[in-house]
Amino acid sequence: MLKIHLVPCLKDNYAYLVHEPSTNAVAIVDPSEAPPVFAALETHGLKLTHILNTHHHFDHTGGNLPLKEETGARIIGPKADADRIPGIDEGLGEGDTLTFGAAKARIFDIPAHTKGHIAFWFEADKAVFTGDTMFAMGCGRLFEGTPAQMWSSLSKLAALPPDTRVYCGHEYTLSNGRFALTLEPDNATLKKRMIEIERLRAAGAPTIPTTIGLEQETNPFLRPASKELQKTLALEGADLVAVFAETRRRKDVF
Ligand SMILES: [Zn+2]
Repeated sequence: MLKIHLVPCLKDNYAYLVHEPSTNAVAIVDPSEAPPVFAALETHGLKLTHILNTHHHFDHTGGNLPLKEETGARIIGPKADADRIPGIDEGLGEGDTLTFGAAKARIFDIPAHTKGHIAFWFEADKAVFTGDTMFAMGCGRLFEGTPAQMWSSLSKLAALPPDTRVYCGHEYTLSNGRFALTLEPDNATLKKRMIEIERLRAAGAPTIPTTIGLEQETNPFLRPASKELQKTLALEGADLVAVFAETRRRKDVF
């Protein structure tokens, strides 16, 4: 089984150190910067073999070149944005499989935050790395895509088994949850979750990983079919993409 260690980077980014013990394959997912990754490798006594990028933004790839130079790690990222991934060795897209030691990840194309954005789904380990597409109770901004594209991308992730752990790119959970409560103030699961999130953040602890099942119940961007959410937005019975688009628009100005 994979061991996954969270590596805080920059202000609110998370990179993830992923260790496959039977072969000692070691990946870092979305290294914003190199120093905290070198420190984590030393703490855990590991040698880096792979760098996995979900998308091209600098706060997900800034560590690529210094890490590759020092360790020779192989860089894997979205094929659709290969020209924007520093030092990339291999581009992957929808339907591809990444072999990582004895583990395998299935790749999904999940564009809209950026044109080329991928997710790595380790099915046997019940873990998915979602970059800046799905956050705990949130989703990424639509920098290079449409609401319909983002809804389609999120729907692929939401269809994974409910016990799948979600490892996302940022610690935005508290503000995402506060926004979610404005749309579904009577969502009991959401209210209960926010008490736990407030407690974790007050203690300086991460709120990641979340799970697909918990996101389905509390993430407003996965809930355009919610009657309460539609009522808040005055979009009762509207098309799901229209409800999603209005939710995203409101979050942009929250
Ligand atoms: Zn991003």
